[in-house]
Amino acid sequence: MPNTVRPGKIVCVGRNYAEHAKELGNEVPKAPLIFLKPPSSVISDGEPIRLPSVSQQVEFEGEIGIMIGERLTRASEPDARKAIRAIVAVNDVTARDLQKSDGQWTRAKGFDSFCPLGTESGDFGDLSDLTVITRVNGEERQRGSSAQMVFSIPAVLSYISHIMTLEPGDLVATGTPSGVGLLAPGDVVEIEVEGVSRVSNPVIETR
Ligand code: ZN
Repeated sequence: MPNTVRPGKIVCVGRNYAEHAKELGNEVPKAPLIFLKPPSSVISDGEPIRLPSVSQQVEFEGEIGIMIGERLTRASEPDARKAIRAIVAVNDVTARDLQKSDGQWTRAKGFDSFCPLGTESGDFGDLSDLTVITRVNGEERQRGSSAQMVFSIPAVLSYISHIMTLEPGDLVATGTPSGVGLLAPGDVVEIEVEGVSRVSNPVIETR
């Protein structure tokens, strides 16, 4: 087994890019919309994403991931900024049909292998100038910048820390830009935070 680092918890932000909210017919939220993925969904570079047979619509979501380095409780934005340990590429794999039919997102977002995670990098430069790119079979499908986020990275961390304490080793996935799309068996999907972290995974059926 590859040496997968499992975050203590994974907090995700939904609809944090206006263009992505629009492509799914949703409004941009007035406050960050958050949900959890289970740590058991994490896989490493090269491990397969397994398509569950109960879904006909599994989609990729390339995202900028934040690894927390210091405990944050009701933190200010500057304190949240200082507590970032590393940036990682994240694929918030989602069974879109189940997300719609369930209402609650736990099943749609929580299958084993639904959270490919790149290697951590503490050398990421300007937080407001990170680019996330998704490629499927080598073809670019998503490109977004943290500058386009509805809620900035420090704002998201501060907001979450007013609800639940963020611990060292927790992961926050900051939302996906527009261009989400289907994954099929045989695909290879790569998420890259440009020049910082990347994760590439083949897609297989679970039968
Ligand atoms: Zn997402």
